[in-house]
Amino acid sequence: MWLGKLYNQSAQKATGKQDIFGTKNRQKVLLPCRYIIPTGENGASLLKKKAQFSPALGIIGHMKEKYHRAITEQALRPHFDPAALEEVIRANLGQDVIRYQFGHDHFHYDNNSFAAGDAYIEEQRRAVIQTLQGGGPASLARAAFGRLTHTAQDFYAHSNYTALWRERHPGAAPDAIHPYLAEVIQDSRLTSGRIYPPLEYFSFIPPLAPLVIPLLPRDSHAWMNKDDPSRPDFAYAYAAAVKRTEDELEQIRRALTPQQISAFQMGNGANEQSRNR
Ligand SMILES: [Zn+2]
Repeated sequence: MWLGKLYNQSAQKATGKQDIFGTKNRQKVLLPCRYIIPTGENGASLLKKKAQFSPALGIIGHMKEKYHRAITEQALRPHFDPAALEEVIRANLGQDVIRYQFGHDHFHYDNNSFAAGDAYIEEQRRAVIQTLQGGGPASLARAAFGRLTHTAQDFYAHSNYTALWRERHPGAAPDAIHPYLAEVIQDSRLTSGRIYPPLEYFSFIPPLAPLVIPLLPRDSHAWMNKDDPSRPDFAYAYAAAVKRTEDELEQIRRALTPQQISAFQMGNGANEQSRNR
């Protein structure tokens, strides 16, 4: 989500607002407001934590892994068996490995890469559906699904969607957020955090962050992100990401037979192979 290439404002602004959710362009998605926002975390203590490094995945970041995992588990645990869910989560977290922090703005909706982010989600969604419809390995479908959930979740953490939604719903609680409000999606002020190298990179080094962040513009990733509970609107971004993740699963399920859904959500290892035959 965060380290990225130089921002090409003219090109990305020109196309960034047209089709934010691909060809679906849905006006309303009815979702139950029953999602739980984590309240146990203390923002101040989280701020003191060092950036995390996961040897398994090579992830470096500010608690990102923890929240992508929590969002994905909350949305999908009722539907997936544990092993299948873990495959989805691993693919989700894999999008934040260091090599995907450069030149992959569309994985994270950084630098106003709205059109490219939408296209990426659509591409991964197609891969999930086609793999399952063709009787291919469900683990490949779960990996593609994990990748798209990461991008979908980053949309709320890296854009000003939550601020524009709250402007229209003053006083509304995080659980009330709608993840696809058309007038917000089409708002000309919708932007996502811009990466300002090299200064932005130093903002990810905890001891340097307090020195560097004040020097960065307000439209930078450092100022705009809602990646952890210390950030304004984190609870709104979290709630929207949970709803969106659940809805992404629903979209896929609608294209599949019950048997294909079962292979996707329940399959693992040898069982999966026999189920797919
Ligand atoms: Zn990301």
